[in-house]
Amino acid sequence: MKVVIVGGGFAGVKAALELSKRRIGKITLISDEPYFLHHATLYATATGKNMAESVIPLENIFAAHPNVDVVHDTITSLDPQRKLVTGAKDYKYDKLILAMGSVTTYFGIKGMDKHSFGIKSLDEIQAFHSHVYNEVVEQKLNPEYFIIGGGPTGIELAGALHEYLQSLKVLHRLPKSKAKVSVIEAAPRILPRSSTTASKKVMKELRKKGIAVRVNKKVEALDKDTITIDGKEYATSAAVWTSGVANNPFFTNHSDLFTLNPAGRVEVNPYLEGAPHIYVLGDNNTVKFSGMALPAMIQATHVAKNITRLATKRAQKKFRPHSVPSGVPTSEGWAYVEWHGVYVAGKFGAWVRRMMELYGYTRLVPFKTALAIWRAHDLHEVDF
Ligand SMILES: Cc1cc2nc3c(=O)[nH]c(=O)nc-3n(C[C@H](O)[C@H](O)[C@H](O)COP(=O)(O)OP(=O)(O)OC[C@H]3O[C@@H](n4cnc5c(N)ncnc54)[C@H](O)[C@@H]3O)c2cc1C
Repeated sequence: MKVVIVGGGFAGVKAALELSKRRIGKITLISDEPYFLHHATLYATATGKNMAESVIPLENIFAAHPNVDVVHDTITSLDPQRKLVTGAKDYKYDKLILAMGSVTTYFGIKGMDKHSFGIKSLDEIQAFHSHVYNEVVEQKLNPEYFIIGGGPTGIELAGALHEYLQSLKVLHRLPKSKAKVSVIEAAPRILPRSSTTASKKVMKELRKKGIAVRVNKKVEALDKDTITIDGKEYATSAAVWTSGVANNPFFTNHSDLFTLNPAGRVEVNPYLEGAPHIYVLGDNNTVKFSGMALPAMIQATHVAKNITRLATKRAQKKFRPHSVPSGVPTSEGWAYVEWHGVYVAGKFGAWVRRMMELYGYTRLVPFKTALAIWRAHDLHEVDF
């Protein structure tokens, strides 16, 4: 059997590893980037932590998997009749797994696409880190950084950026530095998709640190040095857009082949197939709990098992989604972690969140490598 996987993220990499382990025919993993991006730690790498915890070369992950052919290409079209996906080249499949992740959307806010920083890609975090370092250390400016979006990504970035600015002050002897961080959220509370306890506890912690948090505030426009919030202009040299994800446009470009929900995500059957012989995983589908890393990996493992079952003439098993813990750190020593209504917060929360990261790495690389990547978090600042 020939399995082609598009996407070198959580679901794609995990599917390839699980299929490789089961020695299922020929596996081709196609990714438009030569590395796997560990999104959950991008906020840390963007604020001076070691790049090794966020960027893992695909060739390292698959070094011990010679039956996985890793190809660097961008897939643009799909022909289900000929069982073919196409990028710079054509790739024939018997079974296809699409796990192409999300893209950023700016909801049409004036100037946001042009002037905001982001933390969803390697280029974006490098640009943001260099910008902050240059302004605070080299130019000795006192900027106010606006984090747009009070979801988990915005909150962890705000906390880490605040901590980073404090450490630059000490490291580079800048006692007069007044650089600061503000979070802007349009909803009535931060972490609007989490419990109200999460919102309250995290809000209290951010304010205790001196991070300004403004809720019920709508960002209306952004240009090079001002941000407009509810009709009022504020000076800023950097605003980071952490809101707004949309499904990969590949699926709207192939809307004749898939059933899409209003957000453009693919409806799948209980075996996670979006069309015959085509599995659609992770951020790309509408399955409950999709939109997080661990559910993407759980789906990938399930599909790999089902493909193995099919290869040995057995019936596929239905996928049953289940929830996973979620954690939001606001600093190195404080995080809020919740699962099934039970939460831990503070130092212990920070430890649990770190353990969740270690667990995630061990799902992708051998334990020793996972430990080395995880420990890189504590190594000092990187020079981009
Ligand atoms: C900043 C940030 C922080 C996050 N923090 C957390 C967290 O703390 N905990 C958590 O559980 N989840 C977190 N998430 C969500 C989590 O990362 C995603 O749910 C997860 O990545 C989904 O996995 P995936 O395989 O569906 O997509 P991805 O991991 O995004 O993988 C998609 C892959 O497809 C590749 N690709 C895209 N288009 C093409 C193409 N045309 N051809 C070839 N390859 C292509 C991409 O390069 C990428 O390698 C975060 C996300 C972001 C952006």
